[in-house]
This record gives sequence, C-alpha cells and structure tokens, in this order.
Amino acid sequence: MNGTSAEPTRCLRCGRILRVSQTYGPVCRARIRAAAIAEAVKGFAAAQVEKARELIADGGLVPTGRPGVFRAVSSKGDATYLVHVKGHCNCPHGLRRVSALSKLCYHPLSARIMAATSRKAA
Ligand SMILES: [Zn+2]
Ligand SMILES: [Zn+2]
Repeated sequence: MNGTSAEPTRCLRCGRILRVSQTYGPVCRARIRAAAIAEAVKGFAAAQVEKARELIADGGLVPTGRPGVFRAVSSKGDATYLVHVKGHCNCPHGLRRVSALSKLCYHPLSARIMAATSRKAA
C-alpha cells in the first residue's frame, strides 16, 4: 500500500499530509505517546516514574513474548525479575505485596510505560 496511488497519506489525528506512509505524523505520534505515558503513570509518584523511565532507557526492561509480561534487570545487573503490567513483580520489594499503587516497586510502572508506548507506536 506504500506509494502506489495518487492518494496522499494523511495523519489520522490531524489530517496533515505525510511524506512517508505512516499512521500519524511525527508530532502527533509524539503527542499520542506522551498521552499514553501520562495515562500509564497516573497515580504514581514522580520519583517512581523517573526510575521507571531510567530502567527503560538503560535497556533494563525486555518483553518476554507473553502479553503484559516483562523481564527487568536489577539495578546491579546481577538478577532479573518477572514483571507484569498489572502490578506483579518478583523483585524483593515487589514481593512485599504492598497494595497502594504509589507504594509498588517501579518495575510494573516501567512495564506499563513500555506497553503503552509500544502499543501506540505501530
Ligand atoms: Zn498529525
Ligand atoms: Zn519490582
């Protein structure tokens, strides 16, 4: 479907004509990602969000192939934990099973951010 017809590709969000065949233009894609991240981190403390984003930026969170399940590398790099977007994590902190979102370890938060961004990136 790429470049075969005279019909221009338009951004689904703002209708702007795109030079490359994509769903959204770069600005809208960034906004959609930002909105998805904002939604994913709702209710979490800023310090947790910061740590969660650091983990992703450092490549410390990798998808396992199972939906919603990620593998997180510990900050020392000597252990890995299984993390679920819904809040389960088997790191020492996560195993304490605190109930409030804001008290959870930041691993599930990382998973939420990553799930939110990868889902909307297509
Ligand atoms: Zn747009
Ligand atoms: Zn954890």
